[in-house]
Amino acid sequence: MFCPECGTENPDGAKFCGNCRYEMSTSTKDPIHNRIDDVVEIDNGQTGISDSMKYGILAASVFIPFIGLIMGIIYLAQNESEEKKDVGKLWLYGSLGIMLVYFIISSDM
Ligand SMILES: [Zn+2]
Repeated sequence: MFCPECGTENPDGAKFCGNCRYEMSTSTKDPIHNRIDDVVEIDNGQTGISDSMKYGILAASVFIPFIGLIMGIIYLAQNESEEKKDVGKLWLYGSLGIMLVYFIISSDM
């Protein structure tokens, strides 16, 4: 390894340069790179959490509208009054709206 200060060749692992006494250990340890690696590890952990959130949102985007569609069909199939038909339509439109919002959120991530 060469001294970054004066360019003199020193044995690997030498703490100080044999020529100018430059402290080699600080330059070889590279604390800045170690810090960057730590940040990258934290970022990977966050993407892992958001991946599981993504699956949860995708599952919700299937199940919540599915419940809404069933509720809408039940209310519409009863066919008793206009009021119940309106409630059924509300369930159907609501479930479609929620599905749309979930798809937009999941596609952004
Ligand atoms: Zn040196």
